[in-house]
Amino acid sequence: MNQFRLLHFFQPRYREVMDANAPDVVAALVDAGALVVNPLRDAPASVTGGFREGDECHDAITARRPVAEAAIARVAAATDNLEVRRGVGVVGLLTRDPTAAGVPHVVGVRTDGGEDVLADVVVDSAGRRSTLPTWLTDIGAQPPVEERADCGFVYYGRHFRSNDGSVPMAFGPFLQEYGTVSVLTLPADNGTWGVGLVASAKDKAMRSLKNLDVWTNVISSMPLCAHWLDAEPIDDRVAVMAKIEDRHRSFVLDGDPVATGVVALADSWACTNPSVGRGISIGTIHAVGLRDLLHEMPADPVALQQQWYDMTMATAEPWYRSTLAFDEGRLAEVDALLEGRPLEPTPGFEIGKALGAAAGKDPEILRALLDVVNVLALPDEVLGRPGVFERVVELGGGWRDEQLPGPSRDELVALVS
Ligand SMILES: Cc1cc2nc3c(=O)[nH]c(=O)nc-3n(C[C@H](O)[C@H](O)[C@H](O)COP(=O)(O)OP(=O)(O)OC[C@H]3O[C@@H](n4cnc5c(N)ncnc54)[C@H](O)[C@@H]3O)c2cc1C
Repeated sequence: MNQFRLLHFFQPRYREVMDANAPDVVAALVDAGALVVNPLRDAPASVTGGFREGDECHDAITARRPVAEAAIARVAAATDNLEVRRGVGVVGLLTRDPTAAGVPHVVGVRTDGGEDVLADVVVDSAGRRSTLPTWLTDIGAQPPVEERADCGFVYYGRHFRSNDGSVPMAFGPFLQEYGTVSVLTLPADNGTWGVGLVASAKDKAMRSLKNLDVWTNVISSMPLCAHWLDAEPIDDRVAVMAKIEDRHRSFVLDGDPVATGVVALADSWACTNPSVGRGISIGTIHAVGLRDLLHEMPADPVALQQQWYDMTMATAEPWYRSTLAFDEGRLAEVDALLEGRPLEPTPGFEIGKALGAAAGKDPEILRALLDVVNVLALPDEVLGRPGVFERVVELGGGWRDEQLPGPSRDELVALVS
C-alpha cells in the first residue's frame, strides 16, 4: 500500500468505534505500544479550561501505520470464522443468473491463482486503487458514476524516535497552516512521531522539499514545530507522496443498482486527501454500517444494494463531503496566496477558519473544534449548538490577521532555493 511509509494519525472516532465494537483491537494496539493522546489532557488548563467529565471522547489511540496494521492483523488471525489469505489477489467477479437485464448478480471472486471463492455478498475493500469499476464492466454491468479530482497536495514526511519513550510537547494543533504550506506533527507509538510538510502540487518552488536539508531547514524555521526534529530520525530520507485523488463512486443510479451481490466499502467507495487523517475513521463508520446491515441480510439482493446506498449516504457520505469541502477551501486559499490575489472563501470555509481561530480563546469552542477534527460531529451540527456560531464569529472572525509564527512566503522560497 502506498500509504504504508507516510505519517498517520488515528482520530478519536476510530478509537470510539473500536471501543464499542472491537475492544480486542484497542487492547492489541495498546500492547503494541500505541499512544493514547488527548489535547484536553495534555494542553495547558488556561487553554482547555481543565480536563472535564466527557472529555475522554477526545482520546485518540494512534501508531505508525505498520505498527497498527500488525496489531490489527494479530487480532484478525485470532478471530474465529475469519480466514486471512495473504498474498492472494482477486482478479475478477463471478456471476450467476442476473437480477435483471443489465444487472449482473455477483456470487464470488476469482483469485490470481485461478481459484473461485463463492460468497453470499462480496465486499470490495481493496482501497483507493480498487479496480471494482473495471470488474463490474467486465461482467456486463454499467460502471458506477465516479467523481475524481487530484486533491492537489504533495506530502513530504519523516519519522523520529526519542531515547526515553516520550513524544514532544505540542505547541499547537497537529495540523498547522503556514500560508502556502501546512505542517503535520503526529505523535505515534513507542516514543515515535511523524513530521510532515504539505504543499500544493502547483507550487513548483516547494518541490525541493524532497531534499532532506531543505525539508529540515523549513521545519526548523517554524518556532512551534522545530523541536519535533530534536531526536533520532528513523527514516534516512524524506518520504514523498503526490497525485492523491479525492474519488467517490455511486453504485446506485436513479434508484437502480449497477449490480447485486457486491458492495464497495471504505476507500473503495470514496477516498479523500489524507491531511486531516479521517480515512480510517470514515472507513470504520462505514464498516460498522455494513456489519449491521448484513446482520439483517435482506433476502432481496436489490433491497440490499438500496439499503447499503441509503446507509452510506446517511453515515459516511456527510463526512466525505465535509472533508472534500475542507480540501477545496484550503487549496483555493493556497492558490490565492500563490497567485497574489485576495481569497474569496466559501461561507463554509470562512466559518471553519474562524472556528479554528476562536478555539484557542474559549474552552467551549475548543471542544466544538475538536468534535469536528476528531470526526465526532459534523461542522453544521457543531455550529448549530446554541450560541456557538455567534461566539465563533465574535472570537474568530479576525482569523486573517492571526497567522502562526513562521516564515513569510518570501522567506519560505528563500529557504527552499
Ligand atoms: C499518504 C496517506 C496517508 C494517510 N494518512 C491517514 C491518517 O493519518 N489517518 C487516517 O485515518 N487515514 C489516513 N489515510 C487514509 C487511509 O489510509 C485509508 O482511508 C484507509 O486505509 C482505507 O482503508 P481500506 O481498508 O479501504 O483500504 P486500504 O487500507 O488501502 O486496504 C486495501 C487492502 O486491499 C488490498 N488489495 C488491493 N487490491 C486487491 C486485490 N485485487 N486483491 C486482494 N487484495 C487487494 C491491499 O493490498 C490492501 O491490503 C491516508 C492515506 C494516504 C494515501
